[in-house]
Amino acid sequence: NCYQWEVEPEELNLGQELGSGQFGLVLEGRWRGRKVAVKMIKEECMSEEEFKEEARVMMKLSHSKLVQLFGICSQHSPMCLLFEFMENGCLSDYLRTRKGRLSPDLMLGMCLDVSEGMAYLESSGFIHRDLAARNCLVSKNNEVKVSDFGMTRFVLDDQYTSSQCSKFPVKWSAPEVIRYCKFSSKSDVWSFGVLMWEVYNEGRLPYENRSNTEVVESLNSGLRLLKPRLAPDAVYLLMEWCWKEKPDDRPTFAQLLHELASLYSL
Ligand code: ADP
Repeated sequence: NCYQWEVEPEELNLGQELGSGQFGLVLEGRWRGRKVAVKMIKEECMSEEEFKEEARVMMKLSHSKLVQLFGICSQHSPMCLLFEFMENGCLSDYLRTRKGRLSPDLMLGMCLDVSEGMAYLESSGFIHRDLAARNCLVSKNNEVKVSDFGMTRFVLDDQYTSSQCSKFPVKWSAPEVIRYCKFSSKSDVWSFGVLMWEVYNEGRLPYENRSNTEVVESLNSGLRLLKPRLAPDAVYLLMEWCWKEKPDDRPTFAQLLHELASLYSL
């Protein structure tokens, strides 16, 4: 059945608002006996036809450390996307509200969770393109899962999609992405290094008081984010490895997963 990802509007019950994002409102919902998060896609925000094609690919991606896409309801206006419900919200807020109460062991566990999800995407040949703590979500039992993978390709807002523009996530982007828009699993690895930095800084924003231009200049002169006070040396070494200028010099997610797992079991 080629419509297996299509959800009938009658099957879906919409509840309260959870938040809002790039594509519009996110509501709590119920579908086939389970709680789901429903993204209501504002028409002018997304290239819907292209997304529907890609949704088939995204639905097949399935891993315990990825926020699952369950289906799309394109008969509903606006179009809705149904995702696995994540009780504890996005990782950046989660970190900020627990500031001072997270042990380095828990932080390592979060990085490990994300590296598992990303190693799966890497092995599936799927590039995330916007990995950051704000695009990870936390489940009821405090597992961290990767969300919003590949979604920036369908954003219609120019301010977000061009590296020259204000909303482009320059502070999470590898140099080759900023210069030539060259995305790869290795550019995801760079972003993962920044995500680890966010985790060990309890949700602080990277390069807080600096403009995108200033960040690009300092990266070009070889400077990098400093070691977070709470990060062990071994973890900071992994961050620095992720921020190698040449993509080939960076680790793969498979390697990162292996390294993080070996630190976790110490
Ligand atoms: P977008 O990707 O469209 O920018 P977000 O993913 O940032 O939107 O979602 C906006 C907010 O909605 C998040 O900060 C979070 O609070 C909530 N949210 C999104 N997805 C889920 C989910 N799967 N489970 C629970 N809450 C979610």
